[in-house]
Amino acid sequence: MTDRQELASIARAARRYLERERAGGGGELLADGAGKATDEAGFVSARAGRMPAPSGREGPVRPEPVSAQRLAEREQAPTAKNLFGEDEPAAPSPKRAAAAIIDAPEPSIFEEGLNPAGLELRAALAAESIPVLDQVAAEVRACTKCGLCETRTQAVPGVGAAHSGIVFVGEAPGADEDRLGEPFVGRAGQLLDRIIKAMDEARLIPGVPLDRSTVYIANVLKCRPPENRNPLPHEIESCSPYLRRQLDVLKPRIICCLGKFAAELLVGAKGAVGAMRGKVYRYQGAKLIVTYHPAYCLRNPASKRPVWEDMQFLAREYLSD
Ligand code: URA
Repeated sequence: MTDRQELASIARAARRYLERERAGGGGELLADGAGKATDEAGFVSARAGRMPAPSGREGPVRPEPVSAQRLAEREQAPTAKNLFGEDEPAAPSPKRAAAAIIDAPEPSIFEEGLNPAGLELRAALAAESIPVLDQVAAEVRACTKCGLCETRTQAVPGVGAAHSGIVFVGEAPGADEDRLGEPFVGRAGQLLDRIIKAMDEARLIPGVPLDRSTVYIANVLKCRPPENRNPLPHEIESCSPYLRRQLDVLKPRIICCLGKFAAELLVGAKGAVGAMRGKVYRYQGAKLIVTYHPAYCLRNPASKRPVWEDMQFLAREYLSD
């Protein structure tokens, strides 16, 4: 089945489910998502734990009816802070949600030792990484390996340092990043900043200050695709060695993939974001988790809460061996 056929099949399943939910009185809970099954592929999957699997695939066969009892339980669920420090009822944990979701590549077996945490060790890694990061940045700025060099204003190598051991990987620069030469400085970037600030203020990783200077932020592509179109396979192939060299020298404790393109590249398998959330993958000596891209959150504000849960998950995984 091609990707397009697969998405169409998921969309049909979503519509069928929605019709059944409507008939059962719970349709309004999903109505906003039904027409957007192909939106960033994570949209459907975010709800896929409550959807029947398309025929021929594994997955939950029968959606749970939305009962008054469930709604009451939800009312009484423990609260968690959202991105803005407000109390919100906690949604099901990412691990449990992911277990019921289709189409997630399996996490890899952990063979290599985990890169270190601890401020002193991280400071040493940060110092060692600077010349290599500078070298990669110089090569990126001079790169003409794909056609994007012809339309870029500036290349956007990356920003930050190895101090915290956390690396966020996005998709590609947008217009603001292309203009300023720094990743995540537009609206999506401002949201990423708020996410990092919220992690810091909530002391998710005690003793480790988190901001743009202590995490590293990079993209799969270092140059802006025209009109912010999706990266093309040959562009990813040409550009990804830069990201891999950055990750090699940063030796992150944990990598957070923001959206599908980073996730598929670094997990090494195709999958929807919603299906990859809540799992711990490995990228060499780093743990790797997947969450929604901030730009997706801007289009779908309801996804901010799962992102916040993913950041709590990230912190737990960072702190455990
Ligand atoms: N989106 C990305 O994926 N990267 C950026 O740098 C900005 C927006």
